[in-house]
Amino acid sequence: MGAATGDVDGGPSAGAADVIVRGLQRTGRALIDYALPPRCPACGTIVAGDRQFCLGCWQSLHFLDGPACARCSIPLPDALPGADLQCGACLADPPPFDAAPSAVAYGPAARTVALRLKYGRRVGHARLMAGLMVRPLTSLVGGGEALLVPVPLHRWRLWSRGFNQAALVAAELTRLTGVPHDHELLLRARATASLRGKGRRDREKIVAGAFKLAEGAKARAAGRHLILVDDVHASGATLRAAAKALRRSGAARVSALCWARVVPDALASGNIFDFASLASDMVDERMTR
Ligand SMILES: [Zn+2]
Ligand SMILES: [Zn+2]
Repeated sequence: MGAATGDVDGGPSAGAADVIVRGLQRTGRALIDYALPPRCPACGTIVAGDRQFCLGCWQSLHFLDGPACARCSIPLPDALPGADLQCGACLADPPPFDAAPSAVAYGPAARTVALRLKYGRRVGHARLMAGLMVRPLTSLVGGGEALLVPVPLHRWRLWSRGFNQAALVAAELTRLTGVPHDHELLLRARATASLRGKGRRDREKIVAGAFKLAEGAKARAAGRHLILVDDVHASGATLRAAAKALRRSGAARVSALCWARVVPDALASGNIFDFASLASDMVDERMTR
């Protein structure tokens, strides 16, 4: 008695049972795929494969791979490719990060994907976003020991949402590139009020001191290249506050990598969207977390 293989009563062996179960799972999966064909993550049109945009949404994405500020990655369309230039804002008030690339400009398709991950619980979108963030990550990492650090949520927010979208994206980046992540290095010290309608100075005041290093963080971070990971680079106030906290760890370098960056329309050539209205939703979406 107690045999776990099923041989006692002449039934199939565990191995055979596994094969049958796997076969049924495959059939079930095929039926689900048939019943629920993959859809464009931005507009919902049926597409050929999982995590693919339809042609229209794909063409509307503006990849931020042209000449840009070496520090904050704002596009500098007149600069020569590869020139190591910084924009006027970074020269006047250098941000606490060394570089801050994003995969795409924040436009309607990029925004929908980020919102469906965050509020629609479409956790599969983290893989899609990470897939398009591999290229900026690879150029950011170069040599040296890098560590991805997702921008943390306050624990109440984490408890109510059930997941941190930035941590999901960082985990997918690790899976795709092998660059490790540490979601316990940086903590949200306190919840922050909404930054809606606030000017830059007020936003910076609200998030100042919102992040702190976890106990033991210095031992894990010292000498490494820490790369903050977040979904949207909006005003940059959150990234600056998080980068400032990471600077205290003894890291060799601190960068920030995001899915989408808010870029003034005039700089996002070929990318037509209403910057003013997107910027106001963006502040609303981002800062209440
Ligand atoms: Zn689409
Ligand atoms: Zn800049």
